[in-house]
Amino acid sequence: MKIVDIRATTVAVPLEAPLRHSNGAHWGRFVRTLVEVETDEGFVGLGEMGGGGESAEAAFRALLPYLKGHDPFQLEALRFKIANPTASLYNNRTQLLAAIEFACLDVIGQRLGVPVCDLLGGRVRDEVPFASYLFFRYAAEGHPEIRTPDQLVGHARGLREAHGFTVHKLKGGVFPPDHELECYRALAEEFPGDRLRYDPNAVLSLAEGLRFGRAIENLNNDYLEDPVWGLEGLRAVREQVRVPLATNTVVVNFEQLASNVLRRAADVVLLDTTFWGGIRPCVKAAGVCETFQLGIAVHSSGELGVQLATMLHLGAVLPNLTYAADAHYHQLRDDVIEGGPLPYEGGAIAVPTAPGLGVRLDKDKVARYAELYRELGGYPYDRDPGRPGWYARVPNERFADPTVSQEVTL
Ligand SMILES: [Mg+2]
Repeated sequence: MKIVDIRATTVAVPLEAPLRHSNGAHWGRFVRTLVEVETDEGFVGLGEMGGGGESAEAAFRALLPYLKGHDPFQLEALRFKIANPTASLYNNRTQLLAAIEFACLDVIGQRLGVPVCDLLGGRVRDEVPFASYLFFRYAAEGHPEIRTPDQLVGHARGLREAHGFTVHKLKGGVFPPDHELECYRALAEEFPGDRLRYDPNAVLSLAEGLRFGRAIENLNNDYLEDPVWGLEGLRAVREQVRVPLATNTVVVNFEQLASNVLRRAADVVLLDTTFWGGIRPCVKAAGVCETFQLGIAVHSSGELGVQLATMLHLGAVLPNLTYAADAHYHQLRDDVIEGGPLPYEGGAIAVPTAPGLGVRLDKDKVARYAELYRELGGYPYDRDPGRPGWYARVPNERFADPTVSQEVTL
């Protein structure tokens, strides 16, 4: 079988509301590039990539000369053809490779008539549990602002009732640590039997990271995720705080994983099918983590249904996945896959059973949201629409003011 064409389509899919994070915000929509890899046997495999609010169409189109004629079954060769470790110093193709790998696995699964998880060792679970992934949000049509502890708890209660979440992740790094601590404690108080995790995207100073970590030691924590920047920073927090530490920022490749094994800084590694260059490298990394008794979880860098399917197939095959996965998915108003958004039941999403990734594009939805992208364009993921001129520093000292209710026009 041979690849004959690669198509890339940028879509903008509306979020319920703008999501605030330490570097800025998702401005009320996700911009994602959908990839279709077509083969001479008529199979079309699907991939997806983010890109910080920007289109990656041109980058995928530029790969066609490299991949035309390539057999999608040859996945190891694919890695060296477009992202070998030294050539990639110049062109950073890891995330592009990931999307092409998803599509090739989708093609292989369709050709063999098996779901992708069966190509990765076979499923050990039929559904993947997810955390609620709570964001501070600006108000948007039909959705009030989320800024105060009461607003956050109300939002979490609604998500818990709608989707069954029993693990809650607070994305922080937006407001001063004391305010976010108050919010985190309010969640713990509201849901005493549930588990919690906090992730300020590494923007706390070491002193604040230590202070925050110590302050939550008595709560029902899964882990404290990237409280400060860097393996050395995490190691310094880990020495003095009795909460497991997790990272999705500084263990995102095998070199860094080796460092973390040799001198442990993070207890839990969040595997991201895009950041690591595909589903298969995540499975390999999970094996290393299993050997060295590091925890693993599934990271979300924002996803529509295609990327979500990669996370589900990954989660399905990892015996050592003892933490709920993260997903932004329930923050979306819609999806581009046939049948509409995959549903949560009891806080989990079923692993697709159809051949390949098990999801297909809804052509009408793709057309509609490609048009929305043309209308609205990209957005600066690392800027905050409510704070013109502001940009993030690490560690951050210039947090948003939690006492001020603010409206943004996008
Ligand atoms: Mg994180």
